[in-house]
Amino acid sequence: MTRASTYLDYNATAPIRPEARAALLRALEVPANPSSVHAAGRAARDVVEGARARVAALVGVPAGSVTFVCGGTEANALAIESARASGFARIIVGATEHDAVVETAKASGLPVETWPVDANGVAHLPWLEADLKAPGRALVCLMLANNETGVIQPVAEAAALVRAADGWLHVDAVQAAGKIAIDFSALGADTMALSAHKLGGPQGVGALVAGTRATLHRRQHGGGQERGRRAGTENVAGIAAFGAAADAASRDLAAMAEQAPWRDALAERVRAEGAVVLGEAAHRLPQTLCFAGEGFGSEIQVMNLDLAGVMASAGSACSSGKVKASRVVEAMGRSDLAPFALRVSGGWASTEDDWIKCGDAWIAAWKRIGARRREVA
Ligand code: PLP
Repeated sequence: MTRASTYLDYNATAPIRPEARAALLRALEVPANPSSVHAAGRAARDVVEGARARVAALVGVPAGSVTFVCGGTEANALAIESARASGFARIIVGATEHDAVVETAKASGLPVETWPVDANGVAHLPWLEADLKAPGRALVCLMLANNETGVIQPVAEAAALVRAADGWLHVDAVQAAGKIAIDFSALGADTMALSAHKLGGPQGVGALVAGTRATLHRRQHGGGQERGRRAGTENVAGIAAFGAAADAASRDLAAMAEQAPWRDALAERVRAEGAVVLGEAAHRLPQTLCFAGEGFGSEIQVMNLDLAGVMASAGSACSSGKVKASRVVEAMGRSDLAPFALRVSGGWASTEDDWIKCGDAWIAAWKRIGARRREVA
């Protein structure tokens, strides 16, 4: 990526941090399996355990609570399938959860209920309280922050309700980690999913954090790696880089918070043009903005921004590269705006200028489209 281009799509994936790249390359120089007992194996083991301590520190847990997996999707699956194997009878899933959670819950074979959100995308706690009175111990899945809107969920409040009902609270913190401070114990979650590539580490590595109430059940069989919780030779270099990225992200939290005024300035500019900012009244990640300009399709917006050298995302980008209407925006009761949602997300290397450039490009495209529509009318 050249510096001339503006990358504001960190919620899709963050550029790798220099510390993570260096750790990755260093680890590749240790040609060993951490399960080997010889000197090189022991060195690889040290790399993995050092990284485990760093990832644990990011969310305030002892290192032993961290199980390395291949990403956020697998971390969510390990939690959901562990709850099912532990005898939980049903799953309650927040209406704006990521597909990694929604689809895994559906595939579990357990009954799945959707927990509604309000107009700002915040999960409705009284609904949960009432639903938890129904028979059957429940696994409750509530993300810490939404990937499209950045809306932060009332996880600690939900945890109190889930504990009182003897349930299991799984928190997908893939988007929140490295963007806001996280204290796993204070949140009261039982399990929490993390992914390296959202905070400046490489793709293909993640972690599941588990508290003392949760028992993890292996999903794949083979070696006894990760204390029998996740068979398969560890991705040593990826894990090393995850640790370095977690360290750097912890250090950079204050700088991340400084993006909120840049985000708000962009919100102000697009609102003045008639766009609607989604989740605006909720607590949100400091570096995520989701807005919709009616009649300006998400895909067309992304293409127009791209032509101006600005990379952002449709409200909902799916893996095929095709854009579908945002399920998150629909859940917020704004189906009318779902096809027009745009997500702008900054991160560790973003500057105020990036956000200004994005606003300039979006407004220019919006005006062009408006002028064309007026010509046709
Ligand atoms: N959960 C959320 C909220 C996400 O945004 C993503 C990725 O977009 C995932 C889970 C999946 O993470 P990974 O790409 O590491 O599998």
